[in-house]
Amino acid sequence: MDSTRTPRRIGLLGGTFDPVHIGHLRGALEVAEYLGLDEVRLLPNFRPPHRETPSCSAQDRLAMVRLAVEGLPLLVVDARELERDKPSYTIDTLESVRAELDADDQLFLIVGWDAFCGLPSWYRWSELLDHCHILVMQRPDADSEAPEELRDLQAARSVNDPLALTGSGGQIAFVWQAPLGVSATRIRQFLASGRSVRFLVPDAVLAYINAHGLYRASN
Ligand code: ATP
Repeated sequence: MDSTRTPRRIGLLGGTFDPVHIGHLRGALEVAEYLGLDEVRLLPNFRPPHRETPSCSAQDRLAMVRLAVEGLPLLVVDARELERDKPSYTIDTLESVRAELDADDQLFLIVGWDAFCGLPSWYRWSELLDHCHILVMQRPDADSEAPEELRDLQAARSVNDPLALTGSGGQIAFVWQAPLGVSATRIRQFLASGRSVRFLVPDAVLAYINAHGLYRASN
């Protein structure tokens, strides 16, 4: 290892991004700037085709995320979870990203509060912190109580100041970002009912949605 090199600081934000919206993008950007990260990677999740309310293909979700980060050097797209033909567990993704980094590089798994509360249902969730720090973004429309199973972990691993996170992983911190009560669910509902989603998604994403007729009730 080159002893003069500075460890890299990389954020990972996974999501269905169906579609990507300003909650994801502002969160990723604010976290990147506040913590001085080298980059935040947006990783669209593989999701089996389903027949719920209008939603779109992996290819469309990926295309929209790519459009959304254009011109933003801090935000990059990592399509590795879509390159497999089955859902990836976050632990597998972390192991795969880790394998490409140096041991002292810092990985920050960025999750919204709702996703953080769901952590105990994730495959091998207790091993996540072996590979990364976890940064939790608040969501204004989320419940405020963490589930029982998370409380011990939170007590043992939480650091008040996200800027004080040290080492390649193992700690949890909460990050403040401008709270935006927007969700992809609401955006899909607006589109399905013919309402405007202008200013909730980047204009390039909106143009893509319109050009491809996505999320219309008849899809
Ligand atoms: P859906 O409404 O379809 O469930 P979503 O808007 O929650 O979608 P996801 O792609 O599932 O979006 O979210 C990816 C990650 O981004 C999750 O960790 C989620 O908590 C976080 N996130 C989504 N929207 C916001 C927001 N408005 N503020 C902060 N974090 C958010």
